[in-house]
Amino acid sequence: MNPKTDSQRMDKIVSLCKRRGFIFQSSEIYGGLNGAWDYGPIGVELKRNLKNYWWRVIVHEREDVVGMDGAILTHPEVLKASGHVEGFSDPMIDCRVCKARLRADQIINNKGEKQCPVCGGKDLTEPRAFNLMFKTRVGPVDPRSSGTAIFPVSPQGATGPAGPSQPTHPSTMTAGTPIMPASGPVVSADDETAIAYLRPETAQSIFVQFKNMLDVSRKKLPFGIAQIGKAFRNEINPRNFIFRSREFEQMELEYFCRAEEGMQWLDYWKEERLKFYENIGIPRAKLHARKVPDEERAFYSKGTYDIEYDFPFGRQELEGVAYRTDYDLSQHQKASGKSLEYFDEETKQRFVPHVVEPSAGVDRTVLALICEAYSEDEAPDEKGKMETRVVLRFHPRVAPIKCAVFPLLKNKELLVAKAKEIVDLLRPHMFVFYDEAGAIGRRYRRQDEIGTPFCVTVDFETLGEKNPALRQTVTLRDRDSMQQERVAISELVNILTSRVR
Ligand code: ATP
Repeated sequence: MNPKTDSQRMDKIVSLCKRRGFIFQSSEIYGGLNGAWDYGPIGVELKRNLKNYWWRVIVHEREDVVGMDGAILTHPEVLKASGHVEGFSDPMIDCRVCKARLRADQIINNKGEKQCPVCGGKDLTEPRAFNLMFKTRVGPVDPRSSGTAIFPVSPQGATGPAGPSQPTHPSTMTAGTPIMPASGPVVSADDETAIAYLRPETAQSIFVQFKNMLDVSRKKLPFGIAQIGKAFRNEINPRNFIFRSREFEQMELEYFCRAEEGMQWLDYWKEERLKFYENIGIPRAKLHARKVPDEERAFYSKGTYDIEYDFPFGRQELEGVAYRTDYDLSQHQKASGKSLEYFDEETKQRFVPHVVEPSAGVDRTVLALICEAYSEDEAPDEKGKMETRVVLRFHPRVAPIKCAVFPLLKNKELLVAKAKEIVDLLRPHMFVFYDEAGAIGRRYRRQDEIGTPFCVTVDFETLGEKNPALRQTVTLRDRDSMQQERVAISELVNILTSRVR
């Protein structure tokens, strides 16, 4: 790896992502919110295609997995039982010289002397635990008040916030008016019962719903529960574009099994997940299944693999595949007092199942897809002169737009009408894009740059003006080879659906 060219490559990717509508910095016009990103019209398609393919492979194409969609707001007891409230933290060090706040593992060790990686300063604090969870408050709590009881039990009860009489119906409220509960205890801003967390992973809602999911799905072991959704971590140092963010999405499967089968399923899922990445266009040579050594593994895990990818900024984790034993279910069973046992009809035994968890990051995989797809080659311009072509070589199955349709000329009514007819023909089957602006070569380049695998052009031969045998045919251009083939319009749906699935 050449660090200079790799950082240049990363700069080009970030700039392309903004220019072509993949990813924008969140709240950009206000200076940006660190660690949060918004997906534009092309990026959202890529992300959805990735999630849909994961769902298809993990849920729809299997007999043994069901899906769920849990809430983001999480009861504090759930995260106490799982160990997140106590233990989900990174040790942090502050530099007293430049005021940088750093993760302990980022501190430079210069011949035994600790140094700030930002300013080189040596005046550093001791490491302190920093909980990565976002805490919030639920219910009618006035965030402007702290520590005081702010809501009366009834309009006649304890003193409310100073000011005019209290509105009693939501429709009479205006922004900024204090909200008053109809009944219930006085709520204080420090009230522990009003605290909730934004989930730091989707997994815990799966464990907590285990019993309901088991009852309604009537699955027998081994079986899995899958979920895709947002997770939040107050990362100390969001970095590498969307790689490490504070708000991100996960695709998680909890695959429940018998204790004696745990290690077998761990290896099975490691292989399945590697295949998945290959099937979305990430070559095996750039994927690495790192067996996490004992000292790095969570104490309850009997085996974990990190699936890593060679990003331009180094080899980094895409997904963790962990055999978590019966830790989570047992913890929730203990803390809630509710049985989370499985009853085996055949052996008449009751036990807490074990679980293997493949947990993947949506945004990290989107970034891997873009990094892998980005390439530059040479192609002739309108006058036949060679120029640099930027092309995203996405696997057609994840490509944001599957096919672009062009009339050769925009001022020829018959060409335009035929092209629009083809758009209508393809639209129920895939996401297509119509473009009539500019020279045809330019239109191809614009699609190459966002990774559209196929372009259809309607020309005078389509209308049968030159050769009647070519009537109702179009050119179908392949993004990677730039080769064009002549195909019948009646064949288009078949050809394209088979290539983009
Ligand atoms: P890391 O060591 O990189 O912080 P992790 O081991 O804490 O990751 P897990 O808790 O195993 O991550 O979460 C599973 C997956 O969720 C990760 O493999 C990653 O793809 C994704 N993920 C975790 N944290 C983030 C984040 N801050 N931003 C984007 N994706 C994340």
